[in-house]
Amino acid sequence: MSSYPVDFFELKEKIRASGYKKILLQLPEGLMYNAESLVDSLSDEFEVYLSSEPCYGACDIIVHEDKLTVQFGHSEIPNIKYPSNIIFEEMFSNKEFDGVVKKFLDSHRCERVGIVASVQHVHEIEKVQKMFEKNGIVALVGKGDSRIKYAGQVLGCNFSAARDIELDVDCFVFLGTGVFHAVGVRIATGKKTYVLDPFSNHVDDVEAYADKLMRQRFGAIALAESAERFGIIISRKIGQKREKLAMALKEMIESAGLKAYMIYGERIMPESYYYNVDVYVNTACPRITYDDYLRFRKPVITPIELQIALKYKLWENYAFDEIVNVD
Ligand code: SF4
Repeated sequence: MSSYPVDFFELKEKIRASGYKKILLQLPEGLMYNAESLVDSLSDEFEVYLSSEPCYGACDIIVHEDKLTVQFGHSEIPNIKYPSNIIFEEMFSNKEFDGVVKKFLDSHRCERVGIVASVQHVHEIEKVQKMFEKNGIVALVGKGDSRIKYAGQVLGCNFSAARDIELDVDCFVFLGTGVFHAVGVRIATGKKTYVLDPFSNHVDDVEAYADKLMRQRFGAIALAESAERFGIIISRKIGQKREKLAMALKEMIESAGLKAYMIYGERIMPESYYYNVDVYVNTACPRITYDDYLRFRKPVITPIELQIALKYKLWENYAFDEIVNVD
């Protein structure tokens, strides 16, 4: 937790202003190990509950009438209409990127760089931009769409801040950890993308990960081309609900003379999906399709991949599944 300091003075002010005495803390899995210290820091003034469910993004909230939910680690998604009894406590990392940027500059040639980051590191973007510029490199930061709060911020389901500048840069650097977001940027923009991880001080080229993912995706589309029964997965979570899209996909499947079944719910548990379908089409969090693919008993495809399988789109029009608007 020490890499992600919390300003408890300011947080308590916000909670007081809400008028609630009972608060529910909602945490990402990675912060649960230190949940008790958050409770200890707040329970002198409030009745504090820990949510038993982890949260995966600001799309995924749990609210109860008698409590104020405080979700840690995510920024709100601007185009979602949230209930009034939730606040988001963003947690910015105090890790600096100087070392890993220097490593990148010493080992890679890229004259025009686009900078993107996960929310934990967005406040470092400006500093990294200046470091590149000092070294004679053009460094750009794109503006995201209405699902994105900060310039340069990317979500696992939205790379609009990268697409905004894709024509003006030669490569992207992603400030953060893990390869998922960077692979998304690579596929969404077609540009070489590198992870600059300030914790390991490691530069990672995601090309091989993106190739592997694309091979998996084309395999899934090929299987969907001969499918007859489709299960369309719909999430009821506030920031993932794409029911209208799901209905449009159902019509598309049925007009091709095939069967479609709607699977609707809060939590998506791949291991318990025993439905008698050939392929699932996931309209919930796109990461479920890409990250949890092997946990399903049947192939899982995205809405765009369905359109390719049914010949509404060409293979060369492949795009990463992104969410802009929800119902
Ligand atoms: S839909 Fe998925 S990727 Fe997007 S914010 Fe939610 S958890 Fe993250």
